[in-house]
Amino acid sequence: MPLIVQKYGGTSVGDAERISDVARRVVETRKAGNDVVVVVSAMGQTTDDLIALATHVSSRPSGRELDMLLTAGERISMALLAMAIRDLGVEAASLTGSQAGILTDSAHGEAKITAIRGDRVRQYLDDGMVVIVAGFQGVDPESRDVTTLGRGGSDATAVAMAAALEADVCEIYTDVDGVFTADPRLVGTARKLDEVSYEDMLELAAAGAGVLMARSVEFARRFGIPVHVRSSFHDGQGTWIKEDAMEQTVITGVAHDTSEAKVTVHGVPDQPGIAAKLFGALAAEAIDVDMIVQNVSTAGHTDISFTVPVEHLEKAREAADRVAPELEANGVDVDPDIAKVSLVGAGMRNHPGVAADMFRVLSEHSINISMISTSAIRISCVIEAARCDEAVQALHDYYLPAEAAT
Ligand code: ASP
Ligand code: MG
Repeated sequence: MPLIVQKYGGTSVGDAERISDVARRVVETRKAGNDVVVVVSAMGQTTDDLIALATHVSSRPSGRELDMLLTAGERISMALLAMAIRDLGVEAASLTGSQAGILTDSAHGEAKITAIRGDRVRQYLDDGMVVIVAGFQGVDPESRDVTTLGRGGSDATAVAMAAALEADVCEIYTDVDGVFTADPRLVGTARKLDEVSYEDMLELAAAGAGVLMARSVEFARRFGIPVHVRSSFHDGQGTWIKEDAMEQTVITGVAHDTSEAKVTVHGVPDQPGIAAKLFGALAAEAIDVDMIVQNVSTAGHTDISFTVPVEHLEKAREAADRVAPELEANGVDVDPDIAKVSLVGAGMRNHPGVAADMFRVLSEHSINISMISTSAIRISCVIEAARCDEAVQALHDYYLPAEAAT
């Protein structure tokens, strides 16, 4: 029997009525002759609400307790969904991440899945049940404490579960129709992509396309799991993410990310060991550094700028301030009002000049670029946050004009 893993995000299980809709879809899939494992997120904004609650009772909530709290969100949706499915006459059982055998490392709040012991899920499937697994969570087998996988982590649960169970497909149900050439809320002419390669999707997700967690795409690619991102509100086809997606365009999509902030360390001596000390201090605090730019040296001194997730900004500023005297730096500046806009597409490998065109389009709009980074199939520019929408629209108009849609 084919095995389908279906993941439903927070909006898709946002209230009782939506949960009933999901139950109906799960039951249909089951009755069509498939084994079904369902991974659920917490209802609506539950995770945000729980985080807010935690910060009201504690200025620095303990990682262990925060994870204990947050895993409750997914437990609520999994139990409700299992009840709703049973009411439709299909046997179903819910399992926490720990019960489903999702083992992780010990990094509270951003744990990595290290192994999945799928035997309990398999047993339930063999018994003819639909299995509902709580997303975003696992257990550290050493400490036996529950852990969470980082925001959006239910995607990782779903794809890892699909890999462990050798599922035929992992369906990600969401509140949008699929993966778009740009955020359709910003760009009216953005269109849904029928297929995207793992490679392009990985870069799009890392560049801020919010539809899928980047880590889940890595999993899917590693284990060759086809992922179908689709709407939970209708039956239409969404976007297939797979190995050899068709690529006719140079650029697959324009992504943007306003969730990062910039830190600049001014006037450090241009000599060996400075970057190692600075980034060593950040790494010791487990701060995620994304882009790094070291400016040209003037009179033996240089500025180093880097970006971090806004939620790491305070920690990053503290760490930079702490090592500043040792680095003989002139000071540390932070700027939370930045946006990163990125062009992504494996097609750019065979098309020189994409970077030049991107910079020209931005310059025609008098948008200043403060940082640039590239990979083989991505070009990203950091700009002022206030110019983000305009930049995304302009780049989309240039590379993915509406008339090329058909
Ligand atoms: N509920 C978690 C979050 O909001 C996990 C998820 O939705 O994937 O980040
Ligand atoms: Mg979510």
